Amino acid sequence: MADHYEVLGVSRDATPDEIKKAYRRLARELHPDVNPGAEASERFKSVTHAYDVLSDAKQRQQYDLGDQGGFGGGAQGFGGFGDIFETFFGGAQQTRGPRSRRERGQDALIRVEVGLDEVIFGTHRDIEVDTAVVCQTCNGSCCQPGTSPVTCDICGGSGSIQRAVRSLLGNVMTSSPCGTCRGYGTVIATPCVTCQGQGRVRARRTVPVDIPAGVDTGVRLQMPGSGESGPAGGPNGDLYLEIKVKNHDVFSRNGDDLLATLAVSMTDAILGTTAKIEALDGDVEVEIKPGLQSGEILTVKDRGVSKLRGSGRGDLRVGVQVVTPTKLSTKERDLVQQFAASKKAPAPELSHFQQGLFARLRDKFLG
Ligand code: ZN
Repeated sequence: MADHYEVLGVSRDATPDEIKKAYRRLARELHPDVNPGAEASERFKSVTHAYDVLSDAKQRQQYDLGDQGGFGGGAQGFGGFGDIFETFFGGAQQTRGPRSRRERGQDALIRVEVGLDEVIFGTHRDIEVDTAVVCQTCNGSCCQPGTSPVTCDICGGSGSIQRAVRSLLGNVMTSSPCGTCRGYGTVIATPCVTCQGQGRVRARRTVPVDIPAGVDTGVRLQMPGSGESGPAGGPNGDLYLEIKVKNHDVFSRNGDDLLATLAVSMTDAILGTTAKIEALDGDVEVEIKPGLQSGEILTVKDRGVSKLRGSGRGDLRVGVQVVTPTKLSTKERDLVQQFAASKKAPAPELSHFQQGLFARLRDKFLG
């Protein structure tokens, strides 16, 4: 076992005051609350034991005579220096005031489904929300009207109970929340009947919401103060709306662009025409130039989704699929054969898949 004087870093003829000062300095450095390491904890024990022995005149005398005294033997060394504890940890031991019944309410999250057509320009919804609201009977006071909370008899209104606990450092005052008032310092003798003394009740209410244009699945809209009311008239939490955009049968979305496929008959693709397409926000005419190919993309500027941030809209982009006619009449078949005879068609030709139609479509749409 290390020498107690060495442990405390004092000379063998140190005065009781020097020993006390050395101990205070080391305990400040090594106390587990300050220095949670295992090594510090071991040193703290040694330092404390050394101080136990050397601060007691009789034990110090025995130690000096060669008897190291019983380590951990008996409690006589453990009492009597609560003052040291206070020196170090007075701040932590300060009793706090009673806690407030008023607390901020919880945030609420509601999922809202909107159609792709509603997203283009934004939309309005009246959302039904089931949350806690302030009790109208007591206005959040928790007490029957005309009554008020009374000071707790047990803790005298402090909200906490002080208790002396024996520890390695001597008698230590600890404080714990008062069990009678649960730390509030007051007791509600006549709770409001409507809310059972909670100051709030559950209720369904309607929250009008403007859903901005351009929202997408996963976007969360925050509505400050529209969440749950807090206990005892505490402030409201926030309401969050999590958006889910429903899938559409025809249109899909890539950022602010709307995408669709346009089937064009073979003859229209050859000769060209003007096609009318039903966009989500009304009809649009697109020009089909003679010789249109499958896989080409026709872009209609500014007919996509309004941008969530910034101004303007994305584009409407339709990928062309040229449709080969089936089930020809005899006359139609003759006409096609005449056409084939008049124009020598090139033989079918392979090209790299990655540069072919499917890859081009993907790149054009998403690139
Ligand atoms: Zn009430």
